[in-house]
Amino acid sequence: MSNKIALVTGANRGIGLEIVRQLASKGYETILTSRSQEKGEQALMQLPDDQNIHYHTLDIVDPKSVEAVKTDIIREFGRLDILINNAGINYDTWQEAQNADLDEVKETIETNLIGAWRMALAFIPIMKENGFGRIVNVSSGAGALNGMAGGTPGYGVSKAAMNALTIKLGKELQNTGILVNSVCPGWVRTDMGGSNADRSVEEGAKGIVWLAELPKDGPTAKFFRDGKEIDF
Ligand code: NAP
Repeated sequence: MSNKIALVTGANRGIGLEIVRQLASKGYETILTSRSQEKGEQALMQLPDDQNIHYHTLDIVDPKSVEAVKTDIIREFGRLDILINNAGINYDTWQEAQNADLDEVKETIETNLIGAWRMALAFIPIMKENGFGRIVNVSSGAGALNGMAGGTPGYGVSKAAMNALTIKLGKELQNTGILVNSVCPGWVRTDMGGSNADRSVEEGAKGIVWLAELPKDGPTAKFFRDGKEIDF
């Protein structure tokens, strides 16, 4: 059992909810967060009634909401060990870069890149103080520059940028005890992935939890799927 503290963004459904289930079952003090308190409470009812599952509202695009979660976590636990940047939006299969609605693209980047970045900025100082941190950015193969296809422009560009953020943070934080990595969960049956996806949430979450549990000498500034490194 571990008493490490983990926070998962966008955890009221889909892969995020399953990450909470897996981390809590491994003994982590796990904070399920959601932008809607009502949806968060419904999600909590789907989980075992464990003492080590906690709840906080969190909208990652709202700086005040991020500040509030930071203040409350530091007051309650004194630290955060694991940050899972899971919240993501807008797999925009209906548009292409050549005809994209830029307001929609901006909104996607605001969540998928800036929201995750804001969360990292909030918690890196306390992780540095503690000499320990695991930041897992839930990205997508759609954001890999290597072999990138056309289509899904807002989503693909936002996840490519998230991968760039992983590299920047991972390299800047070398030798601080903080490891920062990106992960692709594969194509997962959720509201975003749809019912035809070939993976369950259990399978999708597994590789994310694996990165949350990296040992001291684990990799940083890398991109993974199923525990294996893939190209950015
Ligand atoms: P999902 O079922 O659509 O769930 C997305 C979650 O993000 C929801 O809980 C949603 O909350 C939350 N969210 C959205 N905007 C937010 C914000 N501003 N603040 C806080 N939470 C916010 O998606 P999923 O399939 O579980 O995907 C999870 C992650 O995996 C995403 O980053 C996605 O890009 C990535 N991914 C998924 C697949 C796949 O096949 N499913 C493949 C590759 C990568 P609400 O309920 O309030 O909307």
